[in-house]
Amino acid sequence: MRKYLIAGNWKMNLVPSKAKEFAEELVDNLKKINDDIIVMVAPPFTALEGVSNIIKGSKIKLGAQNINDNEDGAYTGEISADMLLDIGVEYVIIGHSERRHIYNENNEFINKKVLKALSKGLKPILCVGELLSERETGDTEKVVREQVVKCLNGVSREQMVNLVIAYEPVWAIGTGKVATPEQAEEVHAFIRKLIEELYDKDTASDLIIQYGGSVKPDNIDGLMVKENLDGALVGGASLKVDSFCRLVNFNK
Ligand code: PEP
Repeated sequence: MRKYLIAGNWKMNLVPSKAKEFAEELVDNLKKINDDIIVMVAPPFTALEGVSNIIKGSKIKLGAQNINDNEDGAYTGEISADMLLDIGVEYVIIGHSERRHIYNENNEFINKKVLKALSKGLKPILCVGELLSERETGDTEKVVREQVVKCLNGVSREQMVNLVIAYEPVWAIGTGKVATPEQAEEVHAFIRKLIEELYDKDTASDLIIQYGGSVKPDNIDGLMVKENLDGALVGGASLKVDSFCRLVNFNK
């Protein structure tokens, strides 16, 4: 049975002292989480270690927002898999649309990061999703297919158990414009079918596919009832204790 993964991407918010306070509040408020729900927070790099120490022993997992595709060496400003692992990071968000569009990361580069993360035992959350203009020209499936195929190049069937895909339509991220449950379900079902084509039925049915894009307490329940939606990757609404806890405790 697939679990739901509710993940908070804090982006470039919360200085380390505030991040620690916030993590303490989350730990206090999320003592009881259903067994079929995994909760993860992805603080900025400077807050990772502090948050790691606070959530240790709780049900909250730690994620990073990026990773470098090299082992170590002369890569000024970058963070390696070993650095993340050493402070207790388990998940890493890769290919977020802000990295694709602001920092020009392409599918080939994202693929290298996915391979590096998996080879080190980190769990990548691979983000895919179309632009509004691509949806309007009917190219959503074409774009998502290309992203999935290229970013998973060289990923083995065995490694797929550690990978999560987040479908995040770019037009829904941080805009308040959430995809309807039907729009999201259509793309999630398409991704699962594609994974079956690329791997096999079991790999596809075990894969966690999160939805991301303006998920809020008042729309999560309608999204999560859909068969192929297995949780949410959340930006804005993950930055308030009440709203993030409500998301974690969504009604199925
Ligand atoms: C995101 O950044 O992955 C995201 C989904 O942001 P928001 O929830 O704010 O739309």
